[in-house]
Amino acid sequence: MISLKPEHLDAVRRHGETDYPHECCGLLIGRLDAQGNKSVVDTIPISNAREEEARGNRFLITPDELLAGERLARQVGMDVVGFYHSHPDHSAAASQFDLEHAWPTYSYIIVSVLQGKADELLSWELTENRSVFYNEQIRSGE
Ligand SMILES: [Zn+2]
Repeated sequence: MISLKPEHLDAVRRHGETDYPHECCGLLIGRLDAQGNKSVVDTIPISNAREEEARGNRFLITPDELLAGERLARQVGMDVVGFYHSHPDHSAAASQFDLEHAWPTYSYIIVSVLQGKADELLSWELTENRSVFYNEQIRSGE
């Protein structure tokens, strides 16, 4: 399960709408407890900083970006607990590409952006054998 505040969900949706028709992506910073539950305390947009052509239309966080995010998170005593990205004019289901490029234990939040408007938002996590994603429960509270 992943817990986010409404403001974090709003930030993900807004980023998806701002970058439409391109995909947006970013990091989810927070804490991971012993049961594997995550609580998000901040979101860090990434695709804003990218060159137009480098964005393409596929979600990819480079190892450098992950490292920079982890460094930032550690400074405030936290970790990167997951990633978010948008699917412009597609559902919030994880794609085969997403599956092949995913790392275990992280959450992958996907927001569907239909004609510029944020729609469905789902979180995915790899199963232990890394063969498929399962739909992770999102808890949104204060
Ligand atoms: Zn995707």
